[in-house]
Amino acid sequence: MYLIMLGAQGTGKGTVAGLLSKSTGWPQISTGDIFRANISEKTELGNKANEYISKGQLVPDEITVPMVIDRLAQDDCKNGAILDGFPRTVEQAKKLDEILSQKGKKVDMVINLTTPRDEIIERILNRRVCSNPQCKATYNLTMHPSKVEGICDNCGAKLVQREDDSDENAIKQRLAIYDEKTSPLIDFYTNKGVLITEEVSERINRLGKDVAEDVLKRIK
Ligand code: AMP
Repeated sequence: MYLIMLGAQGTGKGTVAGLLSKSTGWPQISTGDIFRANISEKTELGNKANEYISKGQLVPDEITVPMVIDRLAQDDCKNGAILDGFPRTVEQAKKLDEILSQKGKKVDMVINLTTPRDEIIERILNRRVCSNPQCKATYNLTMHPSKVEGICDNCGAKLVQREDDSDENAIKQRLAIYDEKTSPLIDFYTNKGVLITEEVSERINRLGKDVAEDVLKRIK
């Protein structure tokens, strides 16, 4: 199955995608993670993408779409994938339909995560990620801290704050882009009959793992 994680930054898409990937064996494809790996390796793609990412803007489709096409062509995606961070616009969603239909596949389910805005901003500011690109575990200083401060529980590497997570203006810019460009995907996929909405919020004690459990029940 091909699943899409939809939702604003900080709603827990990466956490849910990671849990679903572990249970299903379908790879988690995070466009943000692929960009960040390229930025740290200083590749040409990484240098170009960083001009946009550091300002909280979307990376242009000429860079993003071929990168996703290449990733989906890899062997581990032939039975399914969990897309996390793509598509982010209706144009990208239409491209994805084309890419999948060429393989005789389609988007099977879109998981739309919702979280109150004030909780999102707090979560992003408190987010810390594992600096080991093979691990990429995500923590939160208050909700889900690592056992030893600053060290990843899984692999022992240093935890860092994403550059675009430390600047409140860049966070607000990313959320504004989500509202303008990405949220129309809710209607796009509702009309296709594949969207489910799941609330993730500390206030109702519903976390990423609860959503992942619910989704797994639906797809079994
Ligand atoms: P994320 O880790 O999903 O929050 O992505 C980090 C940044 O990468 C975003 O703020 C964008 O600048 C860029 N990015 C990730 N996915 C896409 C996409 N599908 N289209 C354009 N830019 C993207």
